[in-house]
Amino acid sequence: AVSRQQQQLPARQFVGGKVPLGLKRKGLRVLVTGGAGFVGSHLVDRLVERGDSVIVVDNLFTGRKENVVHHFGNPNFEMIRHDVVEPILLEVDQIYHLACPASPVHYKYNPTNVVGTLNMLGLAKRINARFLLTSTSEVYGDPLQHPQVETYWGNVNPIGVRSCYDEGKRTAETLTMDYHRGANLEVRIARIFNTYGPRMCIDDGRVVSNFVAQALRKEPLTVYGDGKQTRSFQYVSDLVEGLMRLMEGEHVGPFNLGNPGEFTMLELAKVVQDTIDPNAKIEFRPNTQDDPHKRKPDIGRAKELLGWEPKIPLHKGLPLMVTDFRKRIFGDQDSTAT
Ligand code: NAD
Ligand code: UDP
Ligand code: UDP
Repeated sequence: AVSRQQQQLPARQFVGGKVPLGLKRKGLRVLVTGGAGFVGSHLVDRLVERGDSVIVVDNLFTGRKENVVHHFGNPNFEMIRHDVVEPILLEVDQIYHLACPASPVHYKYNPTNVVGTLNMLGLAKRINARFLLTSTSEVYGDPLQHPQVETYWGNVNPIGVRSCYDEGKRTAETLTMDYHRGANLEVRIARIFNTYGPRMCIDDGRVVSNFVAQALRKEPLTVYGDGKQTRSFQYVSDLVEGLMRLMEGEHVGPFNLGNPGEFTMLELAKVVQDTIDPNAKIEFRPNTQDDPHKRKPDIGRAKELLGWEPKIPLHKGLPLMVTDFRKRIFGDQDSTAT
């Protein structure tokens, strides 16, 4: 297909990238794929609040209508139940592409990262929208550099059980850069490190949601392996701020977006015990294959070029998530997270 630029068609009003930074403008039309999911729904809240017209495209594979139901009835909000593996025609100025089964339990089921990303890039090219890919720290694999800098190329097993995710996102980054170079598309790439907060899937097997749900249900916290592997946990509002700064800014990236505070899984278990139940027991389980030993973002680039850094440490963010999980697990009347 021939791009808008190649055809020399006039740029649309408010097309992504044509809006000078800081300009007081009327709301943009923004597509959020995966907008009914954990991160996407928090992003949608901020965009709607800012006055944008938001379209969510989500197949509700791991997302939930409850995450966005408070926008139903708002004329500036629309949700389309659609699988991004199938083509779609829309007219928007910016695309935040989050759709992806993101947890180890779900991600092996579906070619979203490659085919879905290709379709959203094709869409962005046709309408000349600015495209932001939510990639992941998993592109660094089991990293041989610590902390991870964006210039590190990673250490990824191409044929392992996690490969559909790691390699899927690596391919998604490649496609994004190819459309940037080949079709002059305006793109942004975020490499997101482990993020937690309200509306996280309760049973998708990620460590923070597992520990919190287990402690609330008075079950033992399941620590995989020896529990000495590390991760760095970012509160969701910090991530959303980073994603919006990246989209509005002038830099393609990739940018690491994560909280450099690094914890072993045993330390995380301790924070969960302190927050929910000091008597919660710990149970060791065999670790999964190819589990990265360490992970911690170097966020120097985001600090310098986006003026961004996370504000909420784990001991502050965790209680906010616990309030939401308590409501959802014990079935309060109002299960809508705020
Ligand atoms: P999530 O599972 O809550 O959200 C993903 C959303 O995408 C869900 O609403 C799901 O229904 C939707 N989806 C999945 N496949 C789809 C398809 N084929 N078509 C349409 N919709 C589809 O996960 P999340 O944590 O909110 O992750 C959002 C994005 O951030 C993902 O791209 C993920 O890879 C990335 N990310 C998240 C983390 C994290 O720790 N949360 C870390 C790194 C990267
Ligand atoms: N695509 C889409 N919506 C659009 C434009 C394209 O879903 O508005 C899909 C299209 O079906 C194709 C993919 O995006 O599978 C890549 O499109 P592109 O035009 O870049 O590639 P081509 O069609 O030329 O192979
Ligand atoms: N993990 C754990 N107990 C659990 C779930 C996960 O100890 O109940 C470990 C897992 O082995 C990994 C770390 O926690 O070392 C983070 O896992 P998660 O799936 O949350 O994120 P990712 O591996 O994608 O960073």
